[in-house]
Amino acid sequence: MRKAKFGCLTGTYALNVTMGCGFSCVYCYARGYTNAPPKGKVYLFTNLPYLLTKTLDGIHRRVRPDYVVLNTASDCFQDHPDILNITYQVMEVLLSRGIGISFLTKGYIPDRFMGLFKRYCHHIMAQVGLVSLSEKYWKTFEPGAARPQERLENISRLKDMGVIPQVRMDPIIPFITDTEKDIDEMFKRLRSLDVKSVSLSYLHLRPAIMDHLKRELPSIYKKLVESLFQGQKWTHVGTSTKTKLVPLGLRKKGYQRIKSMADRYGISTFICACKNPDLKGSICISGQIASHFRPKGALRDEQLSLFC
Ligand code: SF4
Repeated sequence: MRKAKFGCLTGTYALNVTMGCGFSCVYCYARGYTNAPPKGKVYLFTNLPYLLTKTLDGIHRRVRPDYVVLNTASDCFQDHPDILNITYQVMEVLLSRGIGISFLTKGYIPDRFMGLFKRYCHHIMAQVGLVSLSEKYWKTFEPGAARPQERLENISRLKDMGVIPQVRMDPIIPFITDTEKDIDEMFKRLRSLDVKSVSLSYLHLRPAIMDHLKRELPSIYKKLVESLFQGQKWTHVGTSTKTKLVPLGLRKKGYQRIKSMADRYGISTFICACKNPDLKGSICISGQIASHFRPKGALRDEQLSLFC
């Protein structure tokens, strides 16, 4: 477990159960990390529950973290029994010690996790990643992740357990996932599930992501994505010094349009600040996570030295 050093999660304790992610979304920036295993390979940290227990039980309660963000470069609910077992144990070690967990998933959450979440519902911040309800989009861009319908089911199942999830629409891809029809259909479904808040972010391009897109996308999508970023400068975003953003004008219009559509359904939207450094009024997601777990806003200043 270590403090994240990137984007708006900087300074927050984070822990990955695997290195690599079996979902292999084509746009995934974590697949471009220098230590990322090749597509189809995932390393599971099987001794994590043991190390975590030993570390947390060896320090004073007062210096334990209030919460931990899980799987910042992978997904908690990759569809493999060993990954799910270790993830369950890790969550149980943290929750049973009063430490909150935050996760973002594009997977299907198995029933036994729901039982755990029900017991500790006030210590969980869940985000469901869902950009489009289109099966075509899912099969093309996120073929390893859960079907959109299953992710919608996650939302209502989490709510039944007392966990109100937030929906994260990221990455929105201009002309592919932000059409009027797609967005309207999405908000209609989210409204029916009583979702109150959605975070938005358009696609980012980094050199490694471009390589994956070129290799894995059908040529029609590849050309469209290439044309979107043509002429855009590589810029510094978060810890990445080489990132291309969708042109500002296109993003502004897109966010505005999506926001007004969400308003019609009574859903509030906010723009991820970390991925839109050039847009005023955007919101830091880590700030939201922190306030979820520390409503009084009291920040601890103790340093915690855990295994790295
Ligand atoms: S689920 Fe997340 S971590 Fe896994 S491949 Fe997709 S974007 Fe990457």
